[in-house]
Amino acid sequence: MNIILLGPPGAGKGTQAKILEEKFGLKQLSTGDMLRSECEKKTELGQRVQAIMDAGNLVSDDIMVELIDKRLDEPDCKNGVIFDGFPRTIAQADALGQLLMKKNSPLTAVIRLQVDEKILIERVRKRAEESGDNVRADDNVETLKKRLHVFEEQTRPIVPYYEERNLLFRVNGMQDIDVVSAEIHSILEKAKAA
Ligand code: AMP
Repeated sequence: MNIILLGPPGAGKGTQAKILEEKFGLKQLSTGDMLRSECEKKTELGQRVQAIMDAGNLVSDDIMVELIDKRLDEPDCKNGVIFDGFPRTIAQADALGQLLMKKNSPLTAVIRLQVDEKILIERVRKRAEESGDNVRADDNVETLKKRLHVFEEQTRPIVPYYEERNLLFRVNGMQDIDVVSAEIHSILEKAKAA
């Protein structure tokens, strides 16, 4: 089973991905975490993407697709994965479709987590406060607004893309964590059986 969690920053993708890992034995692939780890290790890739991430812009599709392609070949992905933060453009969605076809491991469902902007800003503000000295350079209100704009412009078009392919399911991400996770669970049980 392969799932995409789709939503703007602060929508709860990471929280729900962790729950799904436990429930379904899947592996969370957070492209944001993967890139942040490259930045921390100061790898060549990390140095190339740091400024782009700090500014709230998207890293190039080529880099992202290569990163995911390599990661999917690792043994911990063999039961299926939860894509958290990928794809973020139509080009990435197309490339992912091809990768998964090649690996004979189709997409089960795309879960669209919907949260109002005011709540997103509040959540990210809280996340930044709770992170203390480890706060992410892009977790501040100004950069968040930029990231929300990037989401609207570049990522939202993948909603109709997956809708046309009958893979899209909408969930109200403003409900309690348990309610959101129960709704996702029931969507996945149905999608698995279909
Ligand atoms: P996230 O933790 O998912 O909010 O990602 C943090 C940052 O990493 C984003 O603002 C982008 O700069 C970069 N990033 C993560 N995933 C992608 C992706 N799929 N495509 C392009 N850039 C990405």
